[in-house]
Amino acid sequence: MSALVPLREQLAALGAYHSLQVAADVRLNSNESPFPPPDAWLRALAEAVGQVDFHRYPDRDATELRAAVAGLHGVLPEEVFCANGSNEVLQCLLVAFGGQGRRALVFEPTYALHAHIAGLTGMEVVSEPRGGDLRVDPGRWRAAIERAEPDVVFLCSPNNPTGRLEDPEIVSAIVDASPGLVVVDEAYGQFSSWSALALRSEGRRRPRDGGGTKGLVVVRTFSKTWAMAGARLGYLVADPEVVAGCRDAALPYHLSVQTQLAGVLALRYVDEMNERVRRVAEARAELAEGLAGLDVETWPSDANFVLFRPRAKDARGVWRTLLAGGVLVRDFSARAGLEGCLRVTVGTPKENGRFLEALAGALR
Ligand SMILES: *Cc1c(COP(=O)(O)O)cnc(C)c1O
Repeated sequence: MSALVPLREQLAALGAYHSLQVAADVRLNSNESPFPPPDAWLRALAEAVGQVDFHRYPDRDATELRAAVAGLHGVLPEEVFCANGSNEVLQCLLVAFGGQGRRALVFEPTYALHAHIAGLTGMEVVSEPRGGDLRVDPGRWRAAIERAEPDVVFLCSPNNPTGRLEDPEIVSAIVDASPGLVVVDEAYGQFSSWSALALRSEGRRRPRDGGGTKGLVVVRTFSKTWAMAGARLGYLVADPEVVAGCRDAALPYHLSVQTQLAGVLALRYVDEMNERVRRVAEARAELAEGLAGLDVETWPSDANFVLFRPRAKDARGVWRTLLAGGVLVRDFSARAGLEGCLRVTVGTPKENGRFLEALAGALR
């Protein structure tokens, strides 16, 4: 290393966290939507961008966007914070409420960026292993919270990369038992039947319980279901005090005019988005059926991807053979708790067919 100042320790392992961007015919490695956003949205965005006064700064508080997101979920605009993708949402949250001398608790294996961003802000990260079904272990989480006394607990529901929704009762109990914030990352929330947002609205109806859900933070993104990974937009729904903290931690004018417009306009196409979710869920069922006929172990999925483990072949070798055949999936085989596992994103029926065919070949 020749730099005068060495890279911060927390950054040294970053390489491993990036999803590989290589050229492939069929890209099923980043859980993107296989469908582009609606044409009408793209036309409306182009038209609106043409009217922008680009010599002026954007609305720092993203007022219209936050009101539109609040409308979608039936909450107040003061309960919504938006940023450039949910990763920046998490970064702002942890710059505001994490940092040196504070502790985060994660249940591994889960989305690696939670521990990574927490570590970058200087937090100590405590990891607790998941149970045998790769969900939060009902018999162990309470002791983990009592031991760690975390300032921030991370949940991910449905969990990436394992695919299952967390048990709503357990999420609720974790919120009750946690001394600080409980972040529920719902990047895939639209694909599943339950959202922690339901707990927030229940909490509001029971104010005499002392605001039992005050520490609950639900994080969502436009990157997956909304087919807008390229636009970089995510948000959280939380107590107004949490939102105010995130705003203080964000850089001024971090959210560009184009991004704000993209979000506001996207929320006019909720029906089209729901239609996409339905089609992905259908394709997921077909994909699961195809996998069931092959020599792989699979886990049930409430999201737009499926985790699987070749039974008789080396996972890294299978991954390589798939890529040579033009199909890119995500290799988790070297991650603790996911030994031998690969993850495939649900694509279009045609892409899924190509994947299944290539996988059948690779397993032979
Ligand atoms: C994909 C994903 C995100 C999305 O990040 P963006 O910055 O919004 O694109 C967040 N959390 C999880 C668990 C994800 O899988």
